[in-house]
Amino acid sequence: MNRKKSTAIICTTVTFVLLLVTALFVINADTRFKIRKGPVIATEISFDYLRHDHSHASPFSDWFDDYFAVNKINTAIIMVNDRENSLVDIPGFHNLNADREEYSQKDYITQLKKQFSKNKIQLFVAVDCDELDENKILDTIVFLDKNYKLAAIVLDNYTHSPQTVELLSQQVSRKTDIILKTGNEELAVLSDIQGVDGYICEDMNHSQYVRFTSEKDVPVYLHCDSPSLESDIFMLTNFDKFSGAVISQYDGLYEKLTNIIFARNKKKSLPKFGMNVTGDFSVTYPEKDMATYYSAIFITGCGADTTVNVNGAEFPAATDGTFGVYYELAEGDNKITVSSGNDSKTLTVTRKVYSYSGSSIQKEIPWDDTIKLNPGRIVRSFSPLTSLLKDPADDSSISAGIEQGVKLAVKETVEVKRGNNMTHAYKLADDSYILASNVEVLDEITADYQPDKKENTDKYSVYNTPHITSAEYSDLENGDGIFTFYVNNMPAVIHNSNGKQLSLLFMDTVCDEIKIPSSDFIRNSTVTNTEKGAEITFDIDTNNRILWGYDVKTEEGKVTLYLNNAPRHTDSDKPLENVTVVLDPGHGGKDPGALGVASLNGPVEKDLNLAVAKATKSILESYGANVVMTREDDTFPELEDRRSLTREIKPDLFISIHHNSMDYSYNSSTVRGSECYYFTDSSKNLAKLMAQNISTATERKNRGAYKARYYVTRNDICPAVLMEYGFVINPQEYSRLYTDEDIYKAAYGTAMAVYNAIPNYN
Ligand code: ZN
Repeated sequence: MNRKKSTAIICTTVTFVLLLVTALFVINADTRFKIRKGPVIATEISFDYLRHDHSHASPFSDWFDDYFAVNKINTAIIMVNDRENSLVDIPGFHNLNADREEYSQKDYITQLKKQFSKNKIQLFVAVDCDELDENKILDTIVFLDKNYKLAAIVLDNYTHSPQTVELLSQQVSRKTDIILKTGNEELAVLSDIQGVDGYICEDMNHSQYVRFTSEKDVPVYLHCDSPSLESDIFMLTNFDKFSGAVISQYDGLYEKLTNIIFARNKKKSLPKFGMNVTGDFSVTYPEKDMATYYSAIFITGCGADTTVNVNGAEFPAATDGTFGVYYELAEGDNKITVSSGNDSKTLTVTRKVYSYSGSSIQKEIPWDDTIKLNPGRIVRSFSPLTSLLKDPADDSSISAGIEQGVKLAVKETVEVKRGNNMTHAYKLADDSYILASNVEVLDEITADYQPDKKENTDKYSVYNTPHITSAEYSDLENGDGIFTFYVNNMPAVIHNSNGKQLSLLFMDTVCDEIKIPSSDFIRNSTVTNTEKGAEITFDIDTNNRILWGYDVKTEEGKVTLYLNNAPRHTDSDKPLENVTVVLDPGHGGKDPGALGVASLNGPVEKDLNLAVAKATKSILESYGANVVMTREDDTFPELEDRRSLTREIKPDLFISIHHNSMDYSYNSSTVRGSECYYFTDSSKNLAKLMAQNISTATERKNRGAYKARYYVTRNDICPAVLMEYGFVINPQEYSRLYTDEDIYKAAYGTAMAVYNAIPNYN
């Protein structure tokens, strides 16, 4: 034999053997695809989708392939039957396979199985047991098992006898899992059936899920009816045993496709806090006998058994033993005994009543020591942030905030009643008012000052009218930009922006004939000198930049305008790597913030604020964000320090973290939920996202987003909000607020709000 021929024969033989082996393998192969590790992330495919083969939501469409891929869904659950129709022969049901043309050679389940196994997606089929008797259930499932070799068969809405399930599990292949899907209550009854390979829990919250799972050696899949699905998945992935989740009717999935992936991202090391309420039974309010004008008080305390008794009436305590009872007071002395188990405490609360004795003649309102100034006098602000008001009697009518040390020319003095005093306010060039108590009066006058008859003007010097003498600009690498205006004095600069335009009014100032430099940020700029001062208006070049925020800083000799370009997500698993967030845990050190129902026997507001901030920081950092905290421990930075740090850092978002309380005259057992405050219009979106995302993640009530003038949020450099996460005065809410579980849910909601507030990369 020559060598060529022998090689050919060997090759032919090898090929034949290989073909034979392959053929045998194919014939014997179990065609089911089963995922082997990691949690099951399943989606239920509604029966309706099947009947519209050509709609985008059909499981046969590209859309569905995408949907599975972007969300990393590894399991599909197809329903076999609904009220009238089925995909297999069930007596009394219309078999839908009969009227399909396109797939007429093969039935739906075969087609779907082929479709999904191509993409390594395991297929479960679900039988809706609701309207089937036990015989039909048995027949249908045995038929499905025999004909399709499925990864699992789900018994949906199963409320029948445990025996049928046991019978079933003996009749189906050991390779096919039997999964029970049912409501929380039925599951409690059915949870010990033999032969069940897994459970899908409906209506189970995170804690119930954790408890149920810990008792089972088979997988338990969380069903997504809960609005807090993402934070639940986050908690389970990071802290507990997690077999998987079934996502059905999750509207946000395709739009917010990253959220589930983020939730499933395991973080490296998340700090734990382990906060607790400690100590014996104690009444924390009132601590001792007291007198009050309140007609009712909210009695609080901790260390109770399951109930607390107040003067004979029984009230439930929260799970951690804290309690709050609304108690109506009679006039005069009220003897109140609060007890729980063998402990009790008796207090006397005296309700006083207002008495209007004496003269009904209105007393003259006293004046403070501020003075009237003639038009043309110069004053100077002495606080880091002073409000200009549209109405000097109304603190909420803020028209602008001005910086420390700026000088203002008085146009007119008005008299105004504020609180129990009369005071003066000075009208300014832009027709706003500044309170006389917020400025020092300088011995300077404008050139057209008109003195009183007897006034000696020798002691006054003439005010050096501010002139803008030149302007510079520089583009920064990150897309931000800085204008510098050189001014020979310190005028107040009033600024306004709607995102497309930014205008600066240099009050009482003249702008010389100068050139405003061109920049990547600005398309066009105009300068006008008016009676109010010099006004410079910039048109933002919105093709080039998005004005996310800005900062105006006034110093002796110059005014700096910092332009903050919008941050962007990056298309990576660190989507926030270009984003800087300042987290501001409220209060701290000497300032405990609101005391909870447990008072100092449990965590107080400053502790909760710091824990939520630390938890949020670790989550945000795992997404790549740069996070700066205004305090890292139990210290108290002044409000202005927190605000000025933010102006210095120039972050993309500022979030002040707080917990809420109520006056002790309210029935705080009915007050609950989270709410968010913002000051600038550009912060409104973040505030809404915070309220929404935190409410969803924690399942606390969403009380909404509101405009308010909290000091730390009065910042234009970026969206800035103050979040009230929950009420420490409500025992039910408080008992959850300090648990690691709720702290991380709140933190996850915050991180999602941050993510959603940042524009997309494309
Ligand atoms: Zn606070």
